[in-house]
Amino acid sequence: MPHNIQQKIESLRTELHQHNYHYYILDQPTISDFEFDYKLKELQDLENQYPEFHDPNSPSLRVGGGITKNFPTIQHQFRMYSLDNSYDFNDLEDWEKRIIKTIDEPVEFVAELKYDGASISILYENGKLVQAVTRGDGFQGDEITHNIRTISDIPLQLNGDYPERFFIRGEIYLTRKRFDKINASRVEEGLDPFMNPRNTASGSLKMQDSREVRKRGLSAVLYQYIGDYFPAETHWELLSKAKNWGFRVSEDQARLCKTLEEVKNFITHWEKERHLLPFEIDGIVVKVNALRHQRQLGYTAKSPRWAMAYKFKAEKVETLLKGVSYQVGRTGAITPVANLQPILLAGTTVKRASLHNEDIIKKLDLHENDWVYVEKGGEIIPKIVGVNRQKRTSETNPITYIQNCPECGTPLLKTEDQAIHFCPNELHCPPQVVGRMIHYVSRKALNIDHLGGETIEQLYREKLIENPADLYTLTKEQLLPLERMAEKSVQNILEGIEKSKYSPFEKVLYGIGIKHVGETVAKKLVKNFPNIERLKSTSIEELCQVEDIGIKIAVSITEFFKNSENLMMIERLKSYGVQLEKQENAQGSISYVLDGKTFLFTGKLSLFTREQAEEMVDQHGGKNISAVSKNLNYLVVGEKAGSKLKKAQAIGSIIILDEQQFLDLING
Ligand code: AMP
Ligand code: ZN
Repeated sequence: MPHNIQQKIESLRTELHQHNYHYYILDQPTISDFEFDYKLKELQDLENQYPEFHDPNSPSLRVGGGITKNFPTIQHQFRMYSLDNSYDFNDLEDWEKRIIKTIDEPVEFVAELKYDGASISILYENGKLVQAVTRGDGFQGDEITHNIRTISDIPLQLNGDYPERFFIRGEIYLTRKRFDKINASRVEEGLDPFMNPRNTASGSLKMQDSREVRKRGLSAVLYQYIGDYFPAETHWELLSKAKNWGFRVSEDQARLCKTLEEVKNFITHWEKERHLLPFEIDGIVVKVNALRHQRQLGYTAKSPRWAMAYKFKAEKVETLLKGVSYQVGRTGAITPVANLQPILLAGTTVKRASLHNEDIIKKLDLHENDWVYVEKGGEIIPKIVGVNRQKRTSETNPITYIQNCPECGTPLLKTEDQAIHFCPNELHCPPQVVGRMIHYVSRKALNIDHLGGETIEQLYREKLIENPADLYTLTKEQLLPLERMAEKSVQNILEGIEKSKYSPFEKVLYGIGIKHVGETVAKKLVKNFPNIERLKSTSIEELCQVEDIGIKIAVSITEFFKNSENLMMIERLKSYGVQLEKQENAQGSISYVLDGKTFLFTGKLSLFTREQAEEMVDQHGGKNISAVSKNLNYLVVGEKAGSKLKKAQAIGSIIILDEQQFLDLING
C-alpha cells in the first residue's frame, strides 16, 4: 500500500512540476488553474497523511513555510566575479581590441539585458534544486534556499539531459507591476513605501519567513551556467539547453552577435526601448560566446575578461521649478516635493520630483524659478540632481523650508537624526488622523475587509469618522448615499466592522496605534497585562520588566494613557464590544457553536479567503479536515466547485453550504 502511495505522490509531483514549467517558463499552460489547484491539494493531502515521503523540492512547498533565523554563510565553489563597466562605445571598442590581441579568429558575442536585481547562485544535483546562495562578496554568500524555492520561475526539478551537478546563476528581481502593488498595499497599511524594485528584491530574499517571500511575487531569470563540466561549446548553447531543462533564461531577450556592430545595435535599441520592459534594467551585458575563447581570456583580479557591462546613462532633462510643496505623511513625516514644468523623462511625463528633506534643498541651493536637472536613477520617483546656474535671474529668492504643518498649522519638529521634519499633532492633523484609522483596519490589526485607505479617507472627508471608535457608529443610512457606495458594499463594510469585534485583544492593542507598539510588543503586553485597565494603570518601571520592552516603549505607552482623548476612545471601543481583554478559553476561541463539527472548503471563495475560513472554524470550536469522507459534516462550496462537491453529494450525509450559509451558521 505505502508503495502505491509513494508512487502516486511522486507522479503528482512530476506532473505538477511539468505544469509549473508550462505555466511559468513557456507561458503556455495546458490545464486550468482550477485543475492545477485541485491536483496540488490532492498532493498536499497525501503529503500531510504520509509525512515519511517528504521532499524539500515538492511543488506543494512553493507556498513557503520554512523559517530561517540566521542565514548560514556558504563559500562559493566558483567565485562570483563582478563585471567590468563601460559607458560608451569607445570603451566597448577598446575591449574588443584587447580581445583580438589574445584571440586570432573571429569572435562572437552574446548581448543580454542587465537585469537590475539581486544575483544568486543555485546548485542542482541530479536535476534537483539543492542550495541557493546570494552573491555576498563574491567569495561567500548567504544560504537562502528556503526563500528561493518559493519563486515560481525557479524550477525545483529539471527535465531532460541535465548534467549531474552544476550551478546556475541569475538575477532575482521584481517587475514594476509587482513593486507598485507591494507599495500600494504598504501605503494601505500605513507603512512607508519601498524606494526601488532592486532593493526590495534583495531585501525580500533575506526575510526570515519564506511565506512572506512568496507573497512578494519575485521573478527570476538565469544567465550563467557554471560547473566542472560544460555540456556545450558556447554560452548561447548553454542558455538554450538551460531553457530546455526548465529554466527561465536570458536568451529570450538576448541576441547572438557576429560582430561588435550588432552588439551596438542591440544596445541602441534597448537604451531607447527599455521602458517598454515590465522590469528594470540598468544596461546590457556583453559576453564572448565561445567557451574556448572565454578560457583563453580568463579573469582579472575582479572580473572576467570575456564579459563587459554597458551601463546606461541615467536619463537627465532640464526643466523649470515651479515651486515646492510639502506633503504630510500618515506618520506625520513631511516630504518636500518639487513641482516641475511637465517634461518627458524615461518614457513618462514628469511633473514632480522628490526632494527628501531640508538638507538636500540646502545642498542644491535651490531658488525659486530655477532651471533644474532632473534624473531618473534606480528610484521610481525622479530627483533633482542640480541647478543650471546660468539661467538663474539675479533677484530670485532661495527656497526656505516651511516652519508649520501645511495641514494643521502646528510648528514642525525634527527627528532625532535631524534629517526629517514632522508634525507632532498626532491626534488632529488630518493625514495623521486618517493614517491612524487606516492602521486600525489594516490586515495585521483589526483586519476589516472592504475598508481600504480610500474609503477611510472618504468617510473622514464626509465627517463620519475621526477615530477608530467612530467606525462602530456607522450606519447603513449614513453610508448608502455616499459616492461609490452600493447596497452590497455597504453591507460588506458593516459586516467587516461587526466581525472586528471578535478580534483578539492583542490585535486591538496593536491597532490603536500606540507609538512603538508593534505586533510583537502588543503580544507581549497582552501576556503580562490581561486587560486594558491593568495596562492603563501600570508604571514605566513595571513595563520595563517585561521582556523586549525598553524605556522608549514604556514611556510611549504611559504617555498614551495619560491623554484624555485616547482614554475616551478606549471607553467607547469597550462600550461597542471590542475585545479589550484576553480571552481565557482555548487560544483564540470565540464561541463553541461549531463544536465537534468538521468542515472542508472547496471552489473559489469570495466572502473570505480559505485561510480566514479555516480560522473561523477553529475559533468557533469546529475542526478543519482535508478530504471528503464520511467523517465530513459540512462542505462549504464557492464558485466552480468540482469533484469534491460531487463526491460529497454521492456520500449523501454531508451538508452542503454556500459561504453565506456558513456565516449564518456561525452567527447562530
Ligand atoms: P555590477 O553589480 O554593476 O558589478 O554588475 C554585475 C552584476 O550584474 C552581476 O553580479 C549580476 O548580478 C548582474 N547582472 C544582471 N544581468 C546580468 C547578465 N545578463 N549577465 C551577467 N550578470 C548580470
Ligand atoms: Zn499637522
